[in-house]
Amino acid sequence: MTTPATHASAPSESAAQTTAFLGLGAMGTPMAAQLARHAQATGGRTLVWNRTSGKAEAHAAEYGSTAATLEQIAGADVVFSCLPTSAEVDALIDQLLPGLRPGAVWIDCTSGRPAAARAQAARLEAAGVAFLDAPVSGGPAGAKAGTLAVMVGGDEAVFGRQEPLLNTFGGTVLRVGPVGSGFAVKAVNNVLMGLHLLSVAEGLASLKKQGVDLGPALTVLNAGSGSSFSSQNKVAQQVFTRQFAPMFKLGLLAKDAGIALENVQEVQASAPLIAQTAMLLRAAQMAIGSDLDHTEAVRLIEQLNGVELS
Ligand code: NDP
Repeated sequence: MTTPATHASAPSESAAQTTAFLGLGAMGTPMAAQLARHAQATGGRTLVWNRTSGKAEAHAAEYGSTAATLEQIAGADVVFSCLPTSAEVDALIDQLLPGLRPGAVWIDCTSGRPAAARAQAARLEAAGVAFLDAPVSGGPAGAKAGTLAVMVGGDEAVFGRQEPLLNTFGGTVLRVGPVGSGFAVKAVNNVLMGLHLLSVAEGLASLKKQGVDLGPALTVLNAGSGSSFSSQNKVAQQVFTRQFAPMFKLGLLAKDAGIALENVQEVQASAPLIAQTAMLLRAAQMAIGSDLDHTEAVRLIEQLNGVELS
């Protein structure tokens, strides 16, 4: 059995609870593993469900969770979801709502839409179920290490009671406002990440055309004020090596940038860089492919400039 790293949790209502997790993808698998480890330490249970059911059975065998039906999931105290978009969460709420327990809490860790969160919270509240939007940043490695950034929208008291569970996979867990706020912050986080990735690719492509040696150029940029998470952690490791290891799908990043654009349009904010980034990432998704790693978006910049960043 693999034992993921974890955070010590404060004594809380999370003891001896039944938690459930919907969606065992790249993120959901290690996040549910952390919850299962916590449940084992507190006498609780972690139920897991995945559309492709074999993944739930494999999760149970590896991490000590319990593969469950949707009917069983509906009886849990806390239901987590981590699915591609808010649309898949809506569909599962449709299926589970009649069976959910009043007093339960639904925590959606999908990178979703704030407007969808508000509608979901209202539907659940009518059935006596609280809702938190709690998207995450830090990738599968952050989930395994228990160091994810978790940005939470929802009622302060509900958040306070669920913090120990969020701390099982989170290193920085903060409430950022009412329902929908977590999704709003996550969309900004990811559009910034996309902007930084595309802009460092543009800069390097122009340097290559000027005859500059990209290896040392990147090293000095990373020691200077133009560096970013993307320039420091993605370019040499994934782009220069042409590895593009699959961790976070390009289609999901394009979706997140689209949510950021939708959000700024809703409040009539002026955000031309967010608009440009959302359009470029959508173009990259169409030209390169949705299911490839997001770092492959740089191939669009390479194609536009007729160079390879290596
Ligand atoms: P994956 O593509 O790895 O996994 C998607 C999961 O959703 C799988 O469990 C899949 O089931 C399930 N799923 C897909 N469609 C449906 C459906 N119609 N009904 C039910 N289940 C469905 O995604 P990630 O884990 O990478 O991402 C999940 C969320 O987390 C996304 O919102 C993403 O933006 C966000 N995120 C991702 C990060 C990353 O680094 N990967 C980092 C931070 C946030 P099945 O196994 O059957 O295909």
